[in-house]
Amino acid sequence: MEVRVLACPHCAAKISSNAKVCEYCGYEYMISSFSSLLKIGRQDINKYVAAYSDALKTNPNDPSLNRSAGICFMSLGIYDKALACFERQIDSNPEGSFAYYVSAMCLLNGKSAFITEKKKIDKAIEYLKAAIVIEEKGIYHYLMAYFKYDYYKRKFLKIEPDYNYHLSAAHSFGVSTEDILDLFNLLKVEVPKGFLETA
Ligand SMILES: [Zn+2]
Repeated sequence: MEVRVLACPHCAAKISSNAKVCEYCGYEYMISSFSSLLKIGRQDINKYVAAYSDALKTNPNDPSLNRSAGICFMSLGIYDKALACFERQIDSNPEGSFAYYVSAMCLLNGKSAFITEKKKIDKAIEYLKAAIVIEEKGIYHYLMAYFKYDYYKRKFLKIEPDYNYHLSAAHSFGVSTEDILDLFNLLKVEVPKGFLETA
């Protein structure tokens, strides 16, 4: 694996190792999940994005850098840039399920599935299928259920298996109300009426 060079978004020290924590200031500089973003203020997210974008110029295919940058872009609502990062992550590390899951989310571009064009919905469904093949998680099935409910069911279109199948799968693999609310919060979309209740 190539060693990346990154300026620490917190103390600006040049870091040239593949560690996730800055050896100078001790800060976690490789954001690997949405929950680690909660510790960072919105203003600081921009510093992280700047550091990642800079490092990506020399290491455009570094999967960890793309994941970190994608998470930051997504939390800022810049879905097209987030999608580009996650798709590069898929190209360089196709066996990770997370990048497929978040790519499916980015395709909505902050809008509901109902008003998104079919081409994008079908691409998102393909990404989620890939994520589920790699790792069967409740939340992946829940997002799949949302796409199939809000787009297919509400437009009276047929798709097999339908959203009910994915809702039951979501619950048999386990999904909490908190996970669901976090998901819709990231999508910047309201949970469709009646959807949580049928869950
Ligand atoms: Zn530092």
